Amino acid sequence: MDTALADRLAAVDERIRDAARSAHRDVADITRIVVTKFHPAALVADLHALGVRDVGENRQQELTAKRAELDGIPDVRWHFIGQVQTNKARAVRAAADAVHSVDRARLADALDGAEGDGVLDVLLQVNLTDDAGRGGVAPDGVEDLAAHVAHLSTLRLRGVMAVAPLDEAPARAFERLRRSSDAVRAVVPDARWISAGMTGDFPEAIAMGATHLRIGSAITGPRPPRD
Ligand SMILES: *Cc1c(COP(=O)(O)O)cnc(C)c1O
Repeated sequence: MDTALADRLAAVDERIRDAARSAHRDVADITRIVVTKFHPAALVADLHALGVRDVGENRQQELTAKRAELDGIPDVRWHFIGQVQTNKARAVRAAADAVHSVDRARLADALDGAEGDGVLDVLLQVNLTDDAGRGGVAPDGVEDLAAHVAHLSTLRLRGVMAVAPLDEAPARAFERLRRSSDAVRAVVPDARWISAGMTGDFPEAIAMGATHLRIGSAITGPRPPRD
């Protein structure tokens, strides 16, 4: 086992506790998802041995393959955090326990299962940039999309997700995400998850009220090049 991995995980968890304390929040209300994209399945197994139960992936084929490779590993929750092509929605649904990146009604419809399927946790990804080409629904479309998803019987709307833009202070961008969270909760009151905060900005996300952090390189080390 890689002791550096254990050390990095412990250091991040300590920073999470510090940020929660500063924000007068209970750290038990914060789920730390370790983003393992581009790393081999063996890294997920190592993280699992260190107590990690929530992992994040952003490509469907990689998620599906890792989940199959680690079949039998107990209690891992796989969070899908990448863009979903509509024609991959069924495969994402089959491999993910939660999908953070629902950003259009057509995708929600494609993710919705058949009668008798279980319920899939989903979050609405909000675009905090001015670039409509980026992933995510525009903030002014959040309420309508929430209402649409709320009517799909095999999806459970849990909250919102976003990536802070590179050209703005994360705390300011996260305030907009908090308003989107309020808009979703006006439609589905218990959709309280706020998925925000990466290696570079998770303390600011905790201060804003994030419930789910998506932390990659600070824990895993640098990502291998994409193949
Ligand atoms: C890769 C990724 C992360 C993690 O990024 P780090 O900066 O390595 O912590 C978080 N969220 C999304 C959507 C990602 O694609």
